[in-house]
Amino acid sequence: MNVHEYQGKQILKKYGVVVPNGHVAFSPDEAVEAAKQLGGDFWVVKAQIHAGGRGKAGGVKLARSLDEVKDYATELLGKTLVTHQTGPEGQEIKRLLIEEGCPIEKEYYIGVVIDRSTNSVVMMGSEEGGTEIEEVAAKTPEKIFKEVIDPAVGMMPFQARRLAYNISIPKDKVNQAVKFMLGLYQAFVDKDGSLAEINPLITTTDGRVMALDAKLNFDSNALYRHKDIQELRDLDEEDPREIEASKYDLNYIALDGNIGCMVNGAGLAMATMDIIKHYNGEPANFLDVGGGATAEKVREAFKIILSDPQVKGIFVNIFGGIMKCDVIATGVVEAAKQIGLEQPLVVRLEGTNVELGKKILRESGLDIVPADSMADGAQKIVELVK
Ligand code: ADP
Ligand code: MG
Repeated sequence: MNVHEYQGKQILKKYGVVVPNGHVAFSPDEAVEAAKQLGGDFWVVKAQIHAGGRGKAGGVKLARSLDEVKDYATELLGKTLVTHQTGPEGQEIKRLLIEEGCPIEKEYYIGVVIDRSTNSVVMMGSEEGGTEIEEVAAKTPEKIFKEVIDPAVGMMPFQARRLAYNISIPKDKVNQAVKFMLGLYQAFVDKDGSLAEINPLITTTDGRVMALDAKLNFDSNALYRHKDIQELRDLDEEDPREIEASKYDLNYIALDGNIGCMVNGAGLAMATMDIIKHYNGEPANFLDVGGGATAEKVREAFKIILSDPQVKGIFVNIFGGIMKCDVIATGVVEAAKQIGLEQPLVVRLEGTNVELGKKILRESGLDIVPADSMADGAQKIVELVK
């Protein structure tokens, strides 16, 4: 689960990570009020969306007066910001962070990830901050330094110091950087983070070391033990279909293609996406209805697929093991009758109660294209959506 920059900063602050003073604002008046409270002579008006790359896209504005704060807030609120991370449809700005302007001396990069190859949390750093780290990794990988952290003892101060020196933090600020890194690591572990990115970490001309940006991701499977994090969830930032799917406990991920997929079992769902791609089609979603799905759950899953305007055809690929083919067939027929099915539908059923399932589909009066195998079904749906 993702949180907004200002929320991430509030969490980090509790762990001793220095962040600029700032307040969230939902209207231009609140923005001006926030700037007044902060004082100082320049402010930064920052769009709060769950995506990076806001600066380049015009979502981070420097204001030199309260009037400018108001103008920028008015301009940004309600606007759809398109960054390289939002996709072409962009994301509507509904909140702003009004922050004290900081006199930047230099920008650095710090990231925390879970590294499966070492079974550890890894902290990465680079003196190439402010830019896209992917680019640094591709062009000058020698400028990225890593510390693998032993989970039994946690991050040791010497590791933080080594990383600080490696990324050329000035000597007089190394102690502050060490405190920063240790705090960041502790927040990450305590809150079950899955990713933390501070880009940039800055040194200021008045001698501070602080997080100018904060992107924190949390492990959704651990949210049950973090009520405080759960409360930060912003449904406006999530795909409405994914929210709907989570209500029914369906594993659904929206994708960019035009072939809706309904599958049982995550492995088969992955294989189904692969085979669609193999025949030059593009899946519109990943959907695993699970093993013990009821007809109701299948019906809701089918509705979610149909609510995606990009979907030009549907491929139902079911291997009935625990799941029974007749249950799937009943759910599909109910949903199609309720909503009306205009797109082509290819169904491949195999396994428990397959004959009964096929009979339900045959007698439904729906225009269903049966498939004999996964490959056959994939080829047929790819052909039909052309
Ligand atoms: P994003 O990564 O989404 O582009 P950032 O929060 O990193 O957004 O902001 C982009 C840039 O804007 C930063 O690299 C920094 O140069 C500048 N900036 C952001 N916040 C402040 C601030 N409080 N004071 C001064 N400059 C800032
Ligand atoms: Mg940034």
